[in-house]
Amino acid sequence: MSQQKEIPIVCPYCGVGCNTELVVEDGKAVKVIVKGRNPDLNGKFICIKGLTVADILNHEDRLKSPLLKIKNEHVETDWSNAIKTTATKLNEIIEKYGNNSIGVLVSGKISNEEGYLAQKFARTVIKTHNVDTCARLCHSPSEVALKMQFGYGAASACINDFNEAEVVMLVGANTRFTHPGIWNLLRRREKKSILIVVDLFEAISSIDIKLTPNPSTDLIWLNGLAKIIVDKQIYDTEFINERTIGFKRFKQSLEIYDKDTVEQIANVPYTQLQKIADLISKKKTVFVWGMGLTQHANGTDAVLSIGNLAMLTGNIGKKGTGVIPLRGQNNVQGVVDMGANPFSLTGGYSLTDKGALTHFEGFWNTRLSEEPGLSATQMIHKILDGKIKALYVIGENPAFSEPQSAFVKWMLRNLELLIVQDIFLTETAKYADIIFPAAALGEKEGTYTNAHRLIQLSAKAVDPPGSAKVDWEIIQDLAQSMGYKWNYKNSEDIWNEAREIAPIFRGASYSHLKESNGLFWPIYDDKSTGIERLYIDRFMFSDNRARFYPIKIPSIFTHTTDEYPFMLVTHRLYEQFNTGEMTLRSKITSKKVKKGFVALNDSDTISLDLSNNSSIRINSPYGSIVSPIKIIKGMKVPSGYIFAPIHFFTYTNFNELTSTYPLDPKAHMPSLKKIPVNIEKIN
Ligand code: SF4
Repeated sequence: MSQQKEIPIVCPYCGVGCNTELVVEDGKAVKVIVKGRNPDLNGKFICIKGLTVADILNHEDRLKSPLLKIKNEHVETDWSNAIKTTATKLNEIIEKYGNNSIGVLVSGKISNEEGYLAQKFARTVIKTHNVDTCARLCHSPSEVALKMQFGYGAASACINDFNEAEVVMLVGANTRFTHPGIWNLLRRREKKSILIVVDLFEAISSIDIKLTPNPSTDLIWLNGLAKIIVDKQIYDTEFINERTIGFKRFKQSLEIYDKDTVEQIANVPYTQLQKIADLISKKKTVFVWGMGLTQHANGTDAVLSIGNLAMLTGNIGKKGTGVIPLRGQNNVQGVVDMGANPFSLTGGYSLTDKGALTHFEGFWNTRLSEEPGLSATQMIHKILDGKIKALYVIGENPAFSEPQSAFVKWMLRNLELLIVQDIFLTETAKYADIIFPAAALGEKEGTYTNAHRLIQLSAKAVDPPGSAKVDWEIIQDLAQSMGYKWNYKNSEDIWNEAREIAPIFRGASYSHLKESNGLFWPIYDDKSTGIERLYIDRFMFSDNRARFYPIKIPSIFTHTTDEYPFMLVTHRLYEQFNTGEMTLRSKITSKKVKKGFVALNDSDTISLDLSNNSSIRINSPYGSIVSPIKIIKGMKVPSGYIFAPIHFFTYTNFNELTSTYPLDPKAHMPSLKKIPVNIEKIN
C-alpha cells in the first residue's frame, strides 16, 4: 500500500511566501495542495507558480552529481574530488591575487541558514565583503532608502494593514502577475479602501485612481505630490514635529517640483495629483511598490520620495499605514537580513558601525575590514579590470539576470575560477569550471523571510536527487576543506548561531516557529510572535526620529530619440518566474506561455504593418535581438512602448539590450526596467 504524506512548505517563488503542502507518495513529491493553515497570509489561495513544485523536484534536468570542466566538457566527479579541487583553487587564487579577488553571489531563494553561512564563508574563510544577492537587481534601492529614513531596510507594515488602510497606493507593481497573493489580498480587503495604482501596464480592475507616468520619473511626481501637500499645509504637523528631523530642508527642496516640471517630465496630470494629495493627507494610507519603481538608476531616490510622503502625511508607525516593498523572491529579504550584502552584516548592522564590527570579529574570531565589498554588478565589471578572478555563484544566474548579457558572458569566460551551485544547469553554470548539485526547497529544512518580515519554517519532504546536497552542507564541506573547523549538524544549528549574533531574530527558535504561523522580526523572546508593525514608538536611530531626505532632479532621464523612438519596458508574466529556470521546466506553467514575445499598442502595430506572431528585430544602443509580437488579452500597451516579459532569456534575452551603466549611486541598481529601442520588420 502506498503511503501519502502532506508536508508543510513555503512556496519557492515570490516574496508573499504562501503556505502550501507538498503531497509525498512513497518518498516522491506528487503535487502541491493548500490546506489554508495560515488564513492571514494566503488561506486557501495559491497561484499557478506555487503548483509547480513537484514538477521541479522530479524534473529529469536536475543536477545529480558534481561536475568538473575538463577540456571544455563537464564531466562527473565525486564530492570529495570536487570539494578538494575547489578548495585548492580558491586557496591558490587567494595566495596569488589576495582575498578581495573572489566574490560570492547568493540567490534570494536559498534559506536564511544558507544565506548566513554563505556570507560567513565569504567573510571568515575567503576574508572578503564581496558577497551580494539578487536583491541588487530588484529591491536594493528599497533596502538602502528604508534604512536611511527609518532604520530597518524592510517593510514597516504588514499585510493586515491592507484591511485597516483607507487608501492603498500601489506604485510600479503589476501584482496580478508579479505577486498574485497580494493581488488576492487586495481584492478581498475588509474595508473598501481607495486603490490608487501607478503603473504603465497594471491589469487590475476596480482601480479608483490610475496614473501612468513616464518610466523612471517617479521621483518627480512623488515630490510634486509632496509639494502640493506642503503648499496646501495639509501635512501632519504633530507627527513631523515629534517624530522626524530634516523637514525644513526637505520643504525648501520641493520648490523645483512645480506643476510644469511635473507634467512635462513625468507626464502626470496635476489635477490627479491634487486629488491624491487630499486623500493621502487625510486618510490612513499604505504605500506599496515593486520593481517598476526601483529598477532605475534613480531607484533609491524614488523610494526615499515615498518615505518622505509617508512621514509628511503621518502614514507610518500606525495601524493601516506604512511602507511595503514587494520583494521578488521568497527569501530575498532573508538573505540580506542574514548579511549577504557587501555593505552590512547579519541583522543589518552596517560595516561603518564600529561596535558591530567588534562584536562580529569576536564572535567569528576573525578580522573584518571597514571597507565595503563589491556589489554584484561591480563584481562583473571588476573581472574586466583583472580585480575579480573567481566567483562562487549559489543559485544565481548572472549570465541572464545581469544587464548586458553578452558582456557578462564574456566576463564569466575571463574568470580563472567559476563555481556554480544550483539545482539545474543554468546558463551561468554552462560557463562554470565546477558545478555543485544542490537540493531544492522541499528537499531540505530551513527558514524563509517574506516581504513583510514574516519568518517561516519550511520542512523537508523528500530527498534530493542523486548525490545532490543541501546548500549549507556544500558550503561547510568547502570551509572544512580550506582548513576551518565548522561543525554544524543541521540547519537549526546555523539558525541558532544567527539568532545569537543578531538579537532581532533571537525569539524565533525552531520550536517556536513550529508552533506558529510564522514569526515577525524583530522578535526578542519566544513569548511573542514578534513585532508585526514597525516604528509604533520609535524609529531605529539614537534620537528615535525618522529622517526626511531632500531629492534633486536627476540631470538626465533616459528618453526616446529619433533614432530610438520606442521605449522597451521589461515586465513579468503570471505564469513564469524570473529567468525561467524553474517555471519553463514545469508542464503546468510552460503549457501556458513558453516562448518570449513583445507586445505593442494596436495603433503602432497597424502603422508599422505588423501582425500577431510576426517577428521584429529590436535594436538598442547596446545590442540587438529578434522577437515575435503577441497580442495579450487585458494588457493595454500605451502607444510608443514595447512590453517585454523577461523570463525567456534562451529565446528572447532582453538583457542583450540593457546596459550596466548608469548604476544607482546609492544602491548600485542598474537601469533594468527600460531601454530606448528601434524596431525593424522581418519578412
Ligand atoms: Fe507562490 Fe507568490 Fe504565487 Fe503565493 S503568490 S503561490 S508565494 S508565487
